[in-house]
Amino acid sequence: MSQTKQLVLNDVLLTYPDGAGRLTALDGVGLEVPGGTMTAVVGPSGSGKSSLLAVAATLVTPDRGRVVVDGVDTGELSRAEKAELRRRSLGIVFQQPNLLPSLTALEQLELMAHVDGRLRRRAVRGVRERARELLAAVGLSAEAGRRPHQLSGGQRQRVGIARALMNGPAVLLVDEPTSALDHERGAVVMDLLAGLTRERGTATVLVTHDRASLAVANRVVEMVDGRLS
Ligand code: ADP
Ligand code: MG
Repeated sequence: MSQTKQLVLNDVLLTYPDGAGRLTALDGVGLEVPGGTMTAVVGPSGSGKSSLLAVAATLVTPDRGRVVVDGVDTGELSRAEKAELRRRSLGIVFQQPNLLPSLTALEQLELMAHVDGRLRRRAVRGVRERARELLAAVGLSAEAGRRPHQLSGGQRQRVGIARALMNGPAVLLVDEPTSALDHERGAVVMDLLAGLTRERGTATVLVTHDRASLAVANRVVEMVDGRLS
């Protein structure tokens, strides 16, 4: 396994404009997540958890500090290079999976490969196989042909997780995946994420305010007022 398959945040400061002043969302945050492990981030609403993921995802540039994804220091990258890094190295699972209503579960995954413009015609077959393999990994083989309205909330969330893994990311970022699920279904998603993290060697960061299923995480850190403890 590559030594660089990890996420490193170092002394990250992030502020947002707030009236006449600035609001500090991340206040000197440091975090190291090795490949094959899952770090859970807990903390109250508004404490900066989603901001942390947005910075790790290179979607938001911090005022200060370093973000290293899969061995690449993102501070040096252009917009285009960041977009390429996101495609190649980052898997992101949002609170709502935002599936396209007209596409089947299988097609939601295949689309990820097509978004990456490098795909050649002869690679299409490999993409379908990979999509099928990932749907199987999240327990949805039988649902491959269903569209979002034919899936439960938990199943949709699992499609979102499989989709995030389509391009074989080094870093997997997951924002409150269980918030719309009941406890039992939430526990299934947490177990699934822990298993996929080990099998695929991803450096996984999982934000949650559901403390019940944290036992599957390798590490739990708490965010309070933009600081990690
Ligand atoms: P959490 O995910 O823990 O609920 P967030 O990271 O979403 O916390 O928010 C942290 C703080 O930053 C909050 O005070 C929030 O209101 C503020 N905030 C988040 N996003 C923005 C934004 N785009 N512009 C201005 N303020 C923001
Ligand atoms: Mg949030």
